[in-house]
Amino acid sequence: MKKDSKRGNFSSKKDAPSYESVLQCMRCGFCLPTCPTYALTGRERSSPRGRVALARAVHEENLQFTAALKQESFFCLDCRACTSACPSGVKAGEVMEVCRSQSQQFFPGSPLAQGFRSFVLERMLPDPDLLEKSMLPNRLYQRLGIQWLVRHSQLLKLGPNWVEKAEGMLPRIGAPLRQQLPELIPARGEKRGRVAFFLGCVMSLMYSEVSRQTVRILAHQGFEVVIPKETKCCGAPHMSEGDRETARALARFNIDLFLAQEVDYIVTDCAGCGASLKEYEELLHGEEDRQRLELFRSKVRDVQEFLCAVGLRTEELQPVNTSVTYHEPCHLCHAQGVSNQPRELIKTIPGVELREMDEASWCCGSAATWGLKFNAESQQVLDRKLAKVAATDAEHLITANPGCQLQLAWGLKKSGMKQDVLHLMELLGRATPESGT
Ligand code: SF4
Ligand code: SF4
Repeated sequence: MKKDSKRGNFSSKKDAPSYESVLQCMRCGFCLPTCPTYALTGRERSSPRGRVALARAVHEENLQFTAALKQESFFCLDCRACTSACPSGVKAGEVMEVCRSQSQQFFPGSPLAQGFRSFVLERMLPDPDLLEKSMLPNRLYQRLGIQWLVRHSQLLKLGPNWVEKAEGMLPRIGAPLRQQLPELIPARGEKRGRVAFFLGCVMSLMYSEVSRQTVRILAHQGFEVVIPKETKCCGAPHMSEGDRETARALARFNIDLFLAQEVDYIVTDCAGCGASLKEYEELLHGEEDRQRLELFRSKVRDVQEFLCAVGLRTEELQPVNTSVTYHEPCHLCHAQGVSNQPRELIKTIPGVELREMDEASWCCGSAATWGLKFNAESQQVLDRKLAKVAATDAEHLITANPGCQLQLAWGLKKSGMKQDVLHLMELLGRATPESGT
């Protein structure tokens, strides 16, 4: 394997964590109580400090990039809770994310696995039309009664556990939202600005009602909403699977597309997309014009962050008499630092009582495909979360990320709990009248 003096035992062909990023760790251990995988295992190597030490050892040529390091890089949830706790600004989750890119170099997998991976990451996800078509079998499966038959047979018990979980998590898939939304929604009442809405893949395909409510609320709040239909995947799945090259291509495409819209802000209702879009600047550092990267970064907002900053027009909001508790998506609170704003919005909705749960910012165990790859561990993380939800006795569980919605809805259903899961925009949508200015 070709080596580079600045990369130690990391491969020179793919992205590697910088030496500076691993040197920052002073081994204080403040991050340890925040790490779900350390809580699960008690293993130093599965802690943020241990993971950074492993990457440093590879840099300093004290360790080869082993299969154990590959396993550790994928076992990290990339929840970023350690970054929030770290006094030195160490980003252990991101270090592991970059190590996944190395994993593909050292351990590329079988030709079949490589072919499937490149089809999904390089062909399907970057192509919105193909992505929409890929949902058709799911829709037929649900509408033709095949799902009912499968669920009432023992068929799912025959396969690996993750298949039963994946099937159980599947929400009812509707017609693709992208086809139904107009390209521009005028502002209602006095215009407060012009925003572009970023259509996320998972949200618009699996939770289309959330995005439908988001754009309706933005318009109702006085914003002209532009919806670029050519929008491509934000690149989060690629970063998560170590395909940073495709992530960079997607980032370049989306930056060009959205900067051409001449909008005040670029708004997303998916915490994972928001975190990715805000990290384009780092992803393309040194490869793209710095001012354009900064301009793009300055415009990206999570919808909760955005509405809280501009202030909700509340005069037309209708009461929603209910109680809720709020689960913080990791990629909203830890990756974007958006923590109080959703709570402020919830408290602004008339008739809603917010009941805080303990450990609201502890991961739910979803983390893209982590919840399927590490099924048993994911269940333990989820059980911890569900116990906190149950203790609030609230009627609804509110969150703001499709991955959390999938995992939490499945967990609540399986546990026979009374709560349903709503995105905060669905809750606010219930308070927002369908007509009027
Ligand atoms: S990652 Fe940060 S918090 Fe954890 S041991 Fe290193 S310096 Fe301390
Ligand atoms: S990102 Fe999350 S799982 Fe990974 S080391 Fe940090 S706290 Fe642990």
